[in-house]
Amino acid sequence: MPELPEVETIRRDLEKKILNKKIVEVKVIKKKVIKEPDLSEFKKGLEGEKVKEILRKAKVLIFKLRDDKFLIVHLRISGWLLYGEEDPKARVVFKFSDGKFLNYMDPRLLGELRLRKDFKDLKFIKELGPEPFELKEEDFKKIVSSKKTKIKVLLMDQALISGIGNVYAQEALFRAKISPLRESNSLSSEEISFLFKSILEILKEAIKYRGSSVDTYRDIGGREGGMGQRLKVYGRQGEPCFVCKTPIRKITLGGRGTCFCPKCQK
Ligand SMILES: [Zn+2]
Repeated sequence: MPELPEVETIRRDLEKKILNKKIVEVKVIKKKVIKEPDLSEFKKGLEGEKVKEILRKAKVLIFKLRDDKFLIVHLRISGWLLYGEEDPKARVVFKFSDGKFLNYMDPRLLGELRLRKDFKDLKFIKELGPEPFELKEEDFKKIVSSKKTKIKVLLMDQALISGIGNVYAQEALFRAKISPLRESNSLSSEEISFLFKSILEILKEAIKYRGSSVDTYRDIGGREGGMGQRLKVYGRQGEPCFVCKTPIRKITLGGRGTCFCPKCQK
């Protein structure tokens, strides 16, 4: 599942390709992914419009067409966007005035596309907490110390902090030398500061290296991200820790696989 860095990479790339380009045709191959309005209104509402701005809320992409018209793309588990030629595996195809295509790809058909007057009133947007980049260290400290939850589970709780998923929660905790099993309210002020810094660093680094392709994620050119090879604990169970050579351990926390170094992370 794409996290903040992957969706931000997509957003930045798309800005260079489709901003101010007119959508001349929309082909819907699998209508299951169109959640609203109905199919003909979805097509009619998009054709002839220009993409004025591309926004992102945590892991959701928002294309502003007019002040009261937005295309909201929630990639969920396996959705991704491929720009260039029309692709035979696309679920929805947007043709632009310059003859280029934006293909909505989604092998498992779990993503969601919506054309709406606004996006702020959508449940999955309204329920999002602030992103790490929007938080001050003091706010982060308040969130962490006010809850008694395993710290890794807290980091992934989108209602508290949005944009961090399973990959970067594990990586940030390794960088901060904090065990994913710690109760959040047991962290010292110094540990919380270090963790906050680690989260910002790991997200910035992941954006710089264009995301991690640990699952189906591809950029809009169909290429893998470069961050996957830079991950220190994610997916490395049984392999030696890069710092102390202790084998990386894998446990399940909040229903998700979680890797960490039992020696470096306290
Ligand atoms: Zn270690």
